[in-house]
Amino acid sequence: MTDTRSPEQRRRIMQSVQTKDTGPELTLRRALFAAGYRFRLHRRDLPGSPDIVFPGRRKVIFVHGCFWHGHGCTKGQPPKSRKEYWLPKIEANRERDHRNVEELQRLGWSVRVVWQCELRDPMALFDSLGIFLAR
Ligand SMILES: [Zn+2]
Repeated sequence: MTDTRSPEQRRRIMQSVQTKDTGPELTLRRALFAAGYRFRLHRRDLPGSPDIVFPGRRKVIFVHGCFWHGHGCTKGQPPKSRKEYWLPKIEANRERDHRNVEELQRLGWSVRVVWQCELRDPMALFDSLGIFLAR
């Protein structure tokens, strides 16, 4: 399965589904759907219950909050106070995420992690996901 859409076509799809009253994750899902992708949400029978699952392509997307999943961006920095409380929790999440990705890959799934901070530029993200899904 190949994705022959141009960046310009993707941009138009994004613009057609962007609304003011929805979160960026929902906007992204709508754009993927409008682009013709069909997917399932939160498949609990897969390791880590991936947020968006493309069964036909054997690909999954996790949407991770930068703080809770320990992203290296500015939003993902642990708070300066009570580090001894936060750091073990975040580290446990990171280890669990890592195990889930390995387990999914072992089962033949391709995994893309979308960080919360990437949702600030939904069009760039949509382009990048188009490439991931076309591979
Ligand atoms: Zn981030």
